[in-house]
Amino acid sequence: MVLDLFKPRRRANLRGRPAPKAWRQILERNLPVFNRLSSEDQAELLGHTQVFIAEKHFEGCGGLVLTDEIRVTIAGQACMLLLHRETDYYPQLTSILVYPTEYVAEEARPIGGGIWEEGPEARRGHTAQRLGALVLAWDAVRHGAAEPNDGVNLVLHEFAHQLDFENRSSDGTPALESHGDYRSWARVMGSEFDALREASESGEDTFLDDYGATNPSEFFAVITEAFFERPRALRQNHPALFMQLQRFYQQDPTTYSLEPVGAH
Ligand SMILES: [Zn+2]
Repeated sequence: MVLDLFKPRRRANLRGRPAPKAWRQILERNLPVFNRLSSEDQAELLGHTQVFIAEKHFEGCGGLVLTDEIRVTIAGQACMLLLHRETDYYPQLTSILVYPTEYVAEEARPIGGGIWEEGPEARRGHTAQRLGALVLAWDAVRHGAAEPNDGVNLVLHEFAHQLDFENRSSDGTPALESHGDYRSWARVMGSEFDALREASESGEDTFLDDYGATNPSEFFAVITEAFFERPRALRQNHPALFMQLQRFYQQDPTTYSLEPVGAH
């Protein structure tokens, strides 16, 4: 990889430029939480959005014609995960492919007993390590943004996977600051994941979407969705897990969430 010495300055310039007025209006319209952020955070998010859109390649698929609305709605949500943190803007990600709606992909999937089956599967989003790309269905993106408290958000989910890749492996652990952080992350997340898996296997109702019991990588994506969309309920039901995420994401979504007070 070529070391780009000008990258930090180029990014600082992009962040410092006033964002197009239309972009702010798109976020105000399509991202209800944007209007609840402090003006500092709104400015930071718009700055990150400008870097993101300048650096990532967007591609319309399945006949979708890209617009600023599509780019900004995706970038704005993806950049919520970057607020207040040192970030390299999803360094392993080059391209974002956007379909109008669910698309069909050929997929190999385990069907038990070590046997794999390959066949078409309808998807709304996908990313993988070493793929360099992230795929999204635009209708699901828009819906996820417009419903900020149902605990489901496709963009947050897929970009959480990208953060997970930053410490090399796709294991549910993003890049943390210190050995101590890794230790407490492993302790808390390990026992929370085991608990979700047990509850899911025994058919119990769980606060967290039991898709998170699939593996630690899906667990991190699912708890990220819960952290941003249902932070009060998450804090109440899983306080230790909430604290780990608050420390990693350097923000407390209970301060701006539209989640009803007293939700659980
Ligand atoms: Zn996933």
